[in-house]
Amino acid sequence: MTDLSSLIRAIPDYPKPGIVFRDITTLLRDRDGLRDTIDALAGPYRGVAIDLVAGVEARGFILGGAVAHALGAGFVPIRKKGKLPHVVLAQEYALEYGVDAIEVHADAIGPGQRVLLVDDLIATGGTAEAALSLIQRSGGDCHAAAFVIDLEELGGSARLRKHDVAVHSLLSF
Ligand code: 5GP
Repeated sequence: MTDLSSLIRAIPDYPKPGIVFRDITTLLRDRDGLRDTIDALAGPYRGVAIDLVAGVEARGFILGGAVAHALGAGFVPIRKKGKLPHVVLAQEYALEYGVDAIEVHADAIGPGQRVLLVDDLIATGGTAEAALSLIQRSGGDCHAAAFVIDLEELGGSARLRKHDVAVHSLLSF
């Protein structure tokens, strides 16, 4: 198994002073790192009936699409406001660096479908909580959420677990 943490680059003072940004592009470009990351994200859900993987724009698309393929599930994009062409459900959320909204197609997730939420990183949990809300408002059952990185001190994974969602992360910083 590749040492995934050694493939993640820390960028100090990005996108603003005092923030250390965890850059996963260096992990994505490494063939062993990418394979092992997708295997580890999908692993706990093999044999579990996951209908759909929902990925949050933009890095959640890269990882979520590959995890969906590994699990034989479909993929649903959760996008930033104004990007989806059909009727949407929208949810506002507080990001680590501001306020925004994410959207999902209103007909993307069927009632009772079991959904795995995937993103690269959970920090405050605002994005993931908004995504969870979209999944639940769609009638979906958010079985679990999987992340490469959990910035545990920022409390996002604890926040998500309060909604009775199982949270699985590969690395904690
Ligand atoms: P949260 O809403 O949990 O505070 O922030 C998580 C969201 O912001 C995720 O969609 C994630 O992609 C992005 N994000 C925040 N900080 C970082 C970071 O240091 N590295 C990466 N790769 N993404 C981040």
